[in-house]
Amino acid sequence: MDKRVRGSVVNGYLGFIQKKWGKVGRSQCMEDIGLEDNLAAGQYYHSQISENILRWISREKGNEYIIEAGKFVVGNLGIIKWLVRFANFRTVANKFPANYSEIYTHGRVEVDTEKDDTYILRLYEVNFIKESCLAWQGVCEGALEMTKTPGTVKKTKCRVDGDPCCEYSIFLGAEQ
Ligand SMILES: [Zn+2]
Repeated sequence: MDKRVRGSVVNGYLGFIQKKWGKVGRSQCMEDIGLEDNLAAGQYYHSQISENILRWISREKGNEYIIEAGKFVVGNLGIIKWLVRFANFRTVANKFPANYSEIYTHGRVEVDTEKDDTYILRLYEVNFIKESCLAWQGVCEGALEMTKTPGTVKKTKCRVDGDPCCEYSIFLGAEQ
């Protein structure tokens, strides 16, 4: 299966690294993973590049930064940023499967917004390493923050652990 992702996602992760650890950090990461040039936002690249960046963050800095990186990326993807400016969280969630397919060439996303207090996000053939699962947790949290929606995110299934998909339950409302 050919797994590709838009350069905008990779650039988002590199932008996070630069914000956090400066240009030196960004250059170090690029050197360590063998990335020589900056990527064009709209082009597709092997998703291994973004996986390698996430592994680098985990190895060099710690897993806690991966969730933060996912949040940062969702805040910087033009299409989603544009959408959330005009929409509530439910609309963003419902449009997300289509947005996903614009950004990734592999896998698919299901969103269930039937229940008012809990939305479910399911990712099929999307995550191949644990670091990606964590980044997606950050994406969910970032979407809540961007739409100023109180809520918490819990990972309830994982493809890497043998489940059919990675599943995130998004509990809406203030924390109990
Ligand atoms: Zn997972």
